[in-house]
Amino acid sequence: MSSKESELELIRQERQRILAEMKDVQEDLADVERQLEENRPDFGLGRGSPQLYEWEMNLARRDRLQGRVEKLQVALDRIQEGKYGICVRCGQPISAERLAVLPATQLCAKCARELAEQRKKRRGPHRHR
Ligand SMILES: [Zn+2]
Repeated sequence: MSSKESELELIRQERQRILAEMKDVQEDLADVERQLEENRPDFGLGRGSPQLYEWEMNLARRDRLQGRVEKLQVALDRIQEGKYGICVRCGQPISAERLAVLPATQLCAKCARELAEQRKKRRGPHRHR
Protein backbone atom coordinates (compact mmCIF):
# COMPACT_ATOMS: atom_id res chain seq x y z
CA MET A 1 0.00 0.00 0.00
CA SER A 2 1.38 3.45 -0.85
CA SER A 3 1.59 6.02 1.90
CA LYS A 4 -1.27 7.97 0.33
CA GLU A 5 -3.44 4.85 0.40
CA SER A 6 -2.59 4.01 3.99
CA GLU A 7 -3.37 7.60 4.90
CA LEU A 8 -6.78 7.30 3.25
CA GLU A 9 -7.34 4.00 5.00
CA LEU A 10 -6.58 5.63 8.35
CA ILE A 11 -9.01 8.45 7.65
CA ARG A 12 -11.64 5.94 6.61
CA GLN A 13 -11.20 4.10 9.91
CA GLU A 14 -11.25 7.37 11.79
CA ARG A 15 -14.51 8.30 10.10
CA GLN A 16 -16.02 4.94 11.14
CA ARG A 17 -14.86 5.54 14.71
CA ILE A 18 -16.33 9.05 14.77
CA LEU A 19 -19.62 7.85 13.28
CA ALA A 20 -19.83 5.09 15.91
CA GLU A 21 -19.15 7.57 18.69
CA MET A 22 -21.68 9.98 17.20
CA LYS A 23 -24.31 7.24 17.30
CA ASP A 24 -23.53 6.45 20.97
CA VAL A 25 -23.57 10.10 21.95
CA GLN A 26 -26.85 10.71 20.15
CA GLU A 27 -28.44 7.72 21.90
CA ASP A 28 -27.29 9.07 25.27
CA LEU A 29 -28.61 12.46 24.31
CA ALA A 30 -32.03 11.06 23.38
CA ASP A 31 -32.06 9.18 26.68
CA VAL A 32 -31.23 12.25 28.71
CA GLU A 33 -33.82 14.30 26.87
CA ARG A 34 -36.46 11.71 27.61
CA GLN A 35 -35.53 11.79 31.28
CA LEU A 36 -35.69 15.57 31.32
CA GLU A 37 -39.11 15.40 29.73
CA GLU A 38 -40.51 12.67 31.99
CA ASN A 39 -39.08 13.83 35.29
CA ARG A 40 -39.84 17.49 35.34
CA PRO A 41 -39.19 18.45 38.93
CA ASP A 42 -41.50 20.45 41.07
CA PHE A 43 -39.57 23.69 41.19
CA GLY A 44 -41.35 24.59 44.40
CA LEU A 45 -39.20 21.99 46.16
CA GLY A 46 -36.36 24.41 46.44
CA ARG A 47 -32.66 23.91 46.08
CA GLY A 48 -31.01 20.83 47.43
CA SER A 49 -33.91 18.46 46.79
CA PRO A 50 -32.69 15.22 45.17
CA GLN A 51 -35.21 15.54 42.37
CA LEU A 52 -34.00 19.00 41.43
CA TYR A 53 -30.41 17.89 41.76
CA GLU A 54 -30.95 15.03 39.34
CA TRP A 55 -32.66 17.36 36.88
CA GLU A 56 -29.73 19.75 36.99
CA MET A 57 -27.28 16.89 36.53
CA ASN A 58 -29.21 15.79 33.47
CA LEU A 59 -29.23 19.32 32.06
CA ALA A 60 -25.46 19.52 32.45
CA ARG A 61 -25.09 16.10 30.85
CA ARG A 62 -27.26 17.16 27.93
CA ASP A 63 -25.10 20.25 27.34
CA ARG A 64 -21.96 18.13 27.38
CA LEU A 65 -23.41 15.62 24.94
CA GLN A 66 -24.62 18.37 22.60
CA GLY A 67 -21.14 19.89 22.63
CA ARG A 68 -19.67 16.50 21.79
CA VAL A 69 -22.09 16.02 18.87
CA GLU A 70 -21.08 19.42 17.46
CA LYS A 71 -17.37 18.60 17.72
CA LEU A 72 -17.84 15.24 16.04
CA GLN A 73 -19.84 16.91 13.28
CA VAL A 74 -16.98 19.36 12.69
CA ALA A 75 -14.59 16.43 12.40
CA LEU A 76 -16.87 14.70 9.88
CA ASP A 77 -17.19 17.91 7.85
CA ARG A 78 -13.42 18.22 7.73
CA ILE A 79 -13.08 14.63 6.55
CA GLN A 80 -15.64 15.42 3.86
CA GLU A 81 -13.61 18.45 2.75
CA GLY A 82 -10.41 16.42 2.75
CA LYS A 83 -8.88 18.64 5.44
CA TYR A 84 -9.12 16.22 8.30
CA GLY A 85 -5.95 15.84 10.36
CA ILE A 86 -4.27 18.88 8.80
CA CYS A 87 -3.39 21.81 11.02
CA VAL A 88 -5.23 24.98 9.88
CA ARG A 89 -2.37 27.13 11.17
CA CYS A 90 0.77 25.50 9.78
CA GLY A 91 -0.60 22.96 7.29
CA GLN A 92 1.29 20.09 8.90
CA PRO A 93 -0.40 16.79 9.67
CA ILE A 94 -1.79 16.45 13.21
CA SER A 95 -0.56 13.38 15.09
CA ALA A 96 -2.86 10.35 15.25
CA GLU A 97 -2.58 10.27 19.06
CA ARG A 98 -3.80 13.85 19.28
CA LEU A 99 -6.70 13.16 16.90
CA ALA A 100 -7.73 10.10 18.90
CA VAL A 101 -8.21 12.31 21.98
CA LEU A 102 -9.48 15.42 20.17
CA PRO A 103 -11.11 14.28 16.93
CA ALA A 104 -12.37 17.78 16.14
CA THR A 105 -9.11 19.62 16.68
CA GLN A 106 -7.94 21.84 13.83
CA LEU A 107 -4.50 22.52 15.29
CA CYS A 108 -1.39 20.40 15.69
CA ALA A 109 0.03 20.08 19.20
CA LYS A 110 2.77 22.62 18.48
CA CYS A 111 0.38 25.31 17.21
CA ALA A 112 -2.11 24.65 20.01
CA ARG A 113 0.72 25.16 22.50
CA GLU A 114 1.91 28.32 20.79
CA LEU A 115 -1.57 29.80 20.68
CA ALA A 116 -2.08 29.00 24.36
CA GLU A 117 1.21 30.75 25.15
CA GLN A 118 0.18 33.79 23.11
CA ARG A 119 -3.13 33.98 24.91
CA LYS A 120 -1.34 33.84 28.23
CA LYS A 121 1.01 36.67 27.17
CA ARG A 122 -1.84 38.84 25.89
CA ARG A 123 -3.49 38.62 29.27
CA GLY A 124 -0.23 39.99 30.65
CA PRO A 125 1.38 39.42 34.01
CA HIS A 126 -0.90 39.26 36.99
CA ARG A 127 -1.20 42.62 38.62
CA HIS A 128 -1.09 42.84 42.36
CA ARG A 129 -3.46 45.15 44.06
ZN1 LIG B 1 0.27 23.53 13.32
